[in-house]
Amino acid sequence: MSQQLSNEQLIAAAQEFGTPLYVYNADNITAQYQRLTTAFAQTDTKFFYACKALTNINILKHIKSIGCNVDCSSINEVKLALLAGFEPGNVLYTSNGIHFSEIEEAQSLGVNINIDSLSNLEKFGQKFGHSYPVGIRLRPNIMAGGNIKISTGHDKSKFGIPIDQLDKIMALVAQDDLFIQNLHIHTGSDIKDVDVFVKGIEVLFDIIPQFKELSSIDLGGGFKVPYKKGDAETDMPLLAQKVNEAFANHPNPNGKHLQVWFEPGKFLVSASGYLVAEVNVMKENTNTTFVGLNTGFNHLIRPMFYDAYHQIENISNPTGEEKHYAVTGNICETDTFAWDRKIAAIREGDLLVFKNAGAYGFEMSSNFNSRYKPAEVLIKDGKATLIRKRDTFEDILGNQVL
Ligand SMILES: *Cc1c(COP(=O)(O)O)cnc(C)c1O
Repeated sequence: MSQQLSNEQLIAAAQEFGTPLYVYNADNITAQYQRLTTAFAQTDTKFFYACKALTNINILKHIKSIGCNVDCSSINEVKLALLAGFEPGNVLYTSNGIHFSEIEEAQSLGVNINIDSLSNLEKFGQKFGHSYPVGIRLRPNIMAGGNIKISTGHDKSKFGIPIDQLDKIMALVAQDDLFIQNLHIHTGSDIKDVDVFVKGIEVLFDIIPQFKELSSIDLGGGFKVPYKKGDAETDMPLLAQKVNEAFANHPNPNGKHLQVWFEPGKFLVSASGYLVAEVNVMKENTNTTFVGLNTGFNHLIRPMFYDAYHQIENISNPTGEEKHYAVTGNICETDTFAWDRKIAAIREGDLLVFKNAGAYGFEMSSNFNSRYKPAEVLIKDGKATLIRKRDTFEDILGNQVL
């Protein structure tokens, strides 16, 4: 099992399927999942892949084949997951800001649901009472995560029901005899500090005694992955140890065993993905050498949107002398992927690869500038398979009325 794709594999895929191209390595996803299950071998856990990171149905099928479950952020993701073959009981719908009709639809499909507003919780109670177990997404008022754009648990975040409104939650639970099976928190993304999760557990332990029918607590996702050498990542064995200690110190007064749920997105798919692009033009300026690629933030928005760092390598000339480059895209809008980046000497026609492009890469792509979205390829057991065709002009016209 190889966790990294070789330059030869990436070049072969680019030659066969063209560029720009997203390439995913199934083995890497499997290995990341095994890191989680190994770290938490002593804990009763259930992992739900937060599929908004990368929803290609072939990725979902692979996730299912390795025994992982799936967390969805929209009713369409729920439908994709069911199409991929997941049992409804292994699908979780963690909603936010949605219309109640979507929750009704999720209920009719039989999946697990986390509700994130008092208003939808009340509607749910009135319609389903005790007949359908449900989870509550809480906002623990903890600041966590890589930056404010990807932090969701702080006291100015729209996500979840603020924990200080617990009395209102309890009033609804009593009023409609709600069957609360799960308490959920998700504090953000890029969380390297395991104490953030521990703090979250502490917040939950304070209120668990009030939920007599609870069978799980859900600590969300947001594990940090390294984007470059020397980057920290969430220490999984340490996290598992802290979670186990917290449980040992807080026996559930209701006597019920609590399973621990996690919703890793990025952790499972980030390093599995590569965006391969070709150099269209080189431009020399006084102090800067611009590299113009046949891709842009229409295909990988993270650098412009989150100031995200993606390692970039020249796989056509890996041993070339390193120079400094400004790597940019081909759309009419500033789309800088990297500024003053040291990369092996680049020539027009070279193939560059962006690492860690699996999570929130293709998934956040668009047709901006009326350009095509890239194709996607999955490499599994050494075999490269096209899992999404490149757009065509018909896709650009799409639903436009002629
Ligand atoms: C986005 C999201 C996740 C996954 O976050 P990552 O940073 O990709 O691990 C998990 N749970 C919920 C509810 C989310 O919205």
